[in-house]
Amino acid sequence: MTTHGKNDKASIDTLCIHAGQAPDPVFGSVAPPIFQTSTFAFQSTDQGAARFAGTEPGYIYTRMGNPTIHMLEENVAALEGGAGALATATGMAAVSTVFFALLSQGDHVVCGASVYGPSRVILERDFARFGVSASFVETSDLAELERAFTPRTRLVFIETPANPTLAVTDLSAVAEMAHAAGALLVVDNTFMSPILQRPFRFGADIVLHSVTKFLNGHSDVVGGILVFRDEALLKRVRPVLFYLGGTMDPHQAWLVLRGIKTLAMRVRVAQENAQACAALLAGHPAVGEVRYPGLPGHPQAAVMARQMEGPGSLISFELKGGLPAGKRLLEGLKLATLAVSLGGVETLIQHPASMTHAAMRHEDRLAAGITDGLVRLSVGCEGREDLLADLKQGLDALL
Ligand SMILES: *Cc1c(COP(=O)(O)O)cnc(C)c1O
Repeated sequence: MTTHGKNDKASIDTLCIHAGQAPDPVFGSVAPPIFQTSTFAFQSTDQGAARFAGTEPGYIYTRMGNPTIHMLEENVAALEGGAGALATATGMAAVSTVFFALLSQGDHVVCGASVYGPSRVILERDFARFGVSASFVETSDLAELERAFTPRTRLVFIETPANPTLAVTDLSAVAEMAHAAGALLVVDNTFMSPILQRPFRFGADIVLHSVTKFLNGHSDVVGGILVFRDEALLKRVRPVLFYLGGTMDPHQAWLVLRGIKTLAMRVRVAQENAQACAALLAGHPAVGEVRYPGLPGHPQAAVMARQMEGPGSLISFELKGGLPAGKRLLEGLKLATLAVSLGGVETLIQHPASMTHAAMRHEDRLAAGITDGLVRLSVGCEGREDLLADLKQGLDALL
């Protein structure tokens, strides 16, 4: 059923469309079938027993695997260059499953200070209840990162570029540090997608995505996925996911497979649009600092050139008029929609301090670079001139 083995040398554009899928052997259906079933019939009691024992391949029950979900897992594993993947109900199910599977009482985590808000909050509030400690650091600062390690550090969890500060962390340097300390490196690659960054090339052990964002790309599904560098790590996490139960649904998997077919082209169009929007923002008198990895003079240009294939389509910026100006802009735009989330074909704009990062303490937000006046724009695939005109009218109204 899977074809990515044959396509190992195929370009990522081809992998998006074909990896993990082949025309269905029964009717020749070109689109992957949706195996909408909770359970699978055994031909005999011996076969049922062999499937449970793992001595015979085959499906048992959808929480423990399903052919449509498996196609998605093979597809994303091929895109990231991993050994295998596990699809999850949401991005947060991927994050929490990794923490549950790999951390025990007394362990310590080094985590990026400005990672996705809930990923940080579950460590601070929930895993702390089970005796797991965590340090939150600016991972783009390698000296600060190194100081955060303790003899109990077992996991390093980062996002690069960070959300929403867009600071870039050197993946190879972090992987080296983590491995020297006997810890695993987990990279949340949601912001870049495998089109623009493949963290296994730089030493990551696990790569995860909120497939809600770029991979699905149409703002109509929530989902997540974990991709593993090697089979042994996958085998460690798989039973925890199956028993905790944060698994994906076959219909959800089918929609995401459909979304991924256009991933490469969506990412590139959105990136070109973002580059134009960032230039407009940087030159506008109502705008203060603009954070976008594609603007000239970025302090981490060398790291970016090594590990990123492009700056992506997320932009953060500060308005000179602070939060009041931010509110007026968010409500004054006509094409960009006021909503959280990112990576869809629609351009979305949001205010991290009151929305995605509101659960963090104010002082932690400031320390992580998330000021009250910061606005985040996820640039979509609309016509460039329309997007620029909308931004310009919204910003001009602030002057
Ligand atoms: C959205 C997001 C998540 C959480 O994903 P859900 O699908 O909403 O559960 C995790 N990490 C990043 C970077 C995200 O943007």
